[in-house]
Amino acid sequence: PILVALDSVGKTFANGVTALANVSIGIASGEFLSLLGPSGCGKSTALRIIAGLIEPTAGRVTWADSTDADHRSQIGFVFQEPTLMPWATVAENVWLPLRLRGLTKRDARDRIAESLALVGMSDFARAYPHELSGGMKMRVSIARALTLRPRLLLMDEPFAALDELTRFRLNDDLQKLRRQLGCTVVFVTHSVFESVYLSDRIAVMSARPGCIVAEVRIEETGD
Ligand code: ADP
Ligand code: ADP
Repeated sequence: PILVALDSVGKTFANGVTALANVSIGIASGEFLSLLGPSGCGKSTALRIIAGLIEPTAGRVTWADSTDADHRSQIGFVFQEPTLMPWATVAENVWLPLRLRGLTKRDARDRIAESLALVGMSDFARAYPHELSGGMKMRVSIARALTLRPRLLLMDEPFAALDELTRFRLNDDLQKLRRQLGCTVVFVTHSVFESVYLSDRIAVMSARPGCIVAEVRIEETGD
């Protein structure tokens, strides 16, 4: 079943730049979809439109099973730069989405612990962001995005700023995590390797204006 669908979506910014034109794609429940393409082809714009952070100027985004529910509560967003609060501990950063819903740290304790365990950061609950490496900060950002157990996880070039070995480990762990949680993921990247390694399906995008030029399904080889 389709979780969310983009129907002839276009986006022209106020400065006249058309970042997206006529993008139509359905995102199936449980799938890992990569948006792959060069810088400037509209990947981030597409992701922000799915997230409801910006509005399309043409077409529409349709959610399958609800009319007026708050879709944002069903979405986790991971940005390229880990956006952790520097004055708060790792646990407090992961608590934030629950705190905004009125849960005390005590109420949220189990969920915080679970989320940190998912990304292998249980031992760092009391650490501050500046004490962590880039890869660890990214793990915490992922834990925070998962705190509300979103149905849809949106990731905007999450590993682009990390060194190659860290990227490799995070790719591996993301794949395991996703199998474990079974949530739907839309992953923006310009890395062919990453998209092939992680995805069930790749939407290849091209610029001027940004659009989907090919869709590739990746089959499991079993080895
Ligand atoms: P990608 O994520 O593939 O690098 P983006 O979605 O960030 O592409 O950008 C697509 C195009 O839209 C680029 O030409 C970019 O400069 C432009 N763009 C993105 N955001 C804005 C904005 N807020 N205002 C004007 N132009 C924008
Ligand atoms: P990405 O990492 O996807 O390439 P960018 O660096 O292109 O992202 O964009 C970073 C921020 O700047 C985004 O909020 C985007 O909307 C905005 N932006 C990008 N291009 C432009 C532009 N030409 N004019 C105004 N804002 C832009």
